[in-house]
Amino acid sequence: MLIVGGGMAGLATGCYARMNGFRVRILEHNLDLGGVCAAWSREPYVIDGCVRWLMGAAPGGMFRGVYEEMGIVPEVPMRVLDTFATIEDPTEGWSFAFTHDLDRLERDMIALAPEDREEIGRLRASIEHTAELRMSIEAPELGHWRDRVAAIWDMRHLAGTMLHFRGDVGTWLTERVKSPRLRAVIGEITHPKMPALFVPMMLGSIVRGQMHVPEGGTLALRDAVVRRFRELGGEATMHATVEEILVAHDRAIGVRLGDGTIVHADVVVSTASLPETVMRLLGGRYVDGATRERIDHWPTFDAIAMVSLGIDRDYPEIVAPLVVREHEPFLAGDTPQHRLGIHVFRGSPHAPPEHAVVQAILPTRYDHWAGLGSHYGSAKAQLAARVLERLGRRLPGIESAVRMTDVVTPLTFWRHARSWRGAFEGFLPTPETFMTHVPKQLPGLGGLWLAGQWVEPGGGIPPALLSGRQVVQLVCRDRGQAFVVDG
Ligand SMILES: Cc1cc2nc3c(=O)[nH]c(=O)nc-3n(C[C@H](O)[C@H](O)[C@H](O)COP(=O)(O)OP(=O)(O)OC[C@H]3O[C@@H](n4cnc5c(N)ncnc54)[C@H](O)[C@@H]3O)c2cc1C
Repeated sequence: MLIVGGGMAGLATGCYARMNGFRVRILEHNLDLGGVCAAWSREPYVIDGCVRWLMGAAPGGMFRGVYEEMGIVPEVPMRVLDTFATIEDPTEGWSFAFTHDLDRLERDMIALAPEDREEIGRLRASIEHTAELRMSIEAPELGHWRDRVAAIWDMRHLAGTMLHFRGDVGTWLTERVKSPRLRAVIGEITHPKMPALFVPMMLGSIVRGQMHVPEGGTLALRDAVVRRFRELGGEATMHATVEEILVAHDRAIGVRLGDGTIVHADVVVSTASLPETVMRLLGGRYVDGATRERIDHWPTFDAIAMVSLGIDRDYPEIVAPLVVREHEPFLAGDTPQHRLGIHVFRGSPHAPPEHAVVQAILPTRYDHWAGLGSHYGSAKAQLAARVLERLGRRLPGIESAVRMTDVVTPLTFWRHARSWRGAFEGFLPTPETFMTHVPKQLPGLGGLWLAGQWVEPGGGIPPALLSGRQVVQLVCRDRGQAFVVDG
């Protein structure tokens, strides 16, 4: 089995394929495995480029079994996330914390938005209900229609919640929430196009202790998955960019690399972006209407820039991700920023004692950065300076404590992980895309399977891992072989 891409999906595909007896080789464009699940060294700091939280890792959690099979738990200790984020509005003089304590969450919401008491009550009830919403980790293609009907029947008492939150976040906030402040705080932790049902689901995960931060951050998590892959006997070639998926008689038979090398395989799995796989590696053949519709019309995650600063102070007072609302917007590239999201990483491996890495993530436009030419370097420096100036308003004295500056742009995502137009997490989940089952094969083409965040709208580490597991389940089914896991 050849796997295009060694991110979380490629590594998971490789692990499950090894458990099922395949010889496996990952072909990875970058110099490192992990894809966008990346952390990198800027001595003496480590920049954490990914995991803010991991869903469903507690005992009984939805994805616990997959994490165990992948060598993530119990190998990587997990800390329960107490506060998802604190939103501050320095101009209006208020702040709000999304805490794990449901009573406090409800009380704080009512204090912030007394006019929305009724809707807040409904939200609370839905948060409690969503505990029962579970997603199967098995490939849906393997289930019988009777299982699906039974699952829907089991969730019939959730019909009210599903109906109430059936649209997107933007519409729910406009139609149901009166208070501009409550709209603002919910708007800061979601995207207006996301399914409104995500609001009770996300808050439900927090209050049930099902959101964790891996100790050691992205580095520890990524290394655990890579270790598992290696221990299972998987092989990987880095700096190997696949240029073409070779096809004979409507069956994938191998790949051609950038240096002309041809590698043959019985099964090819692509975890590259959908446009890359379909339009570039297959030259636009095997595209049906539904695939074309996804590529042309489904919204993708906004591209981002990321400014990380190594600081000779550790800010113990900042214990949760912070969002500072900016009434005087500033620019990231040519995109106005109405907020500054701040993460503080302390302790090993991120920073030496009494130091920290302070990081800001900023939505921006891929085309802007791609068009800068020789001004690219100075634009990165300018962005770092703007972010530092805003950080100085919240963290006085930070300017003189900066020891390291690192700026990532949408082009960095393209260069290192071939994130299509900087869409680092694939398709945005919307009420439509999230409910669509995306097939893991292309019509009329055998021997090629698709895994990863571009076939799991919304992305995230659990869906990336699951998609690899499910592809191997389906390959085993087609070969008449029982799927086994070694967990
Ligand atoms: C800043 C940030 C924060 C995040 N926070 C979280 C979080 O808190 N929790 C969470 O669950 N998820 C989070 N995610 C999302 C999560 O990391 C991703 O959804 C997941 O890691 C995607 O894995 P993947 O393997 O599908 O894709 P990718 O990681 O994109 O991997 C695809 C791989 O394929 C390679 N590739 C592509 N084309 C080729 C080619 N032609 N030849 C060879 N190789 C190729 C790429 O180089 C890449 O390594 C975050 C992501 C980012 C960037």
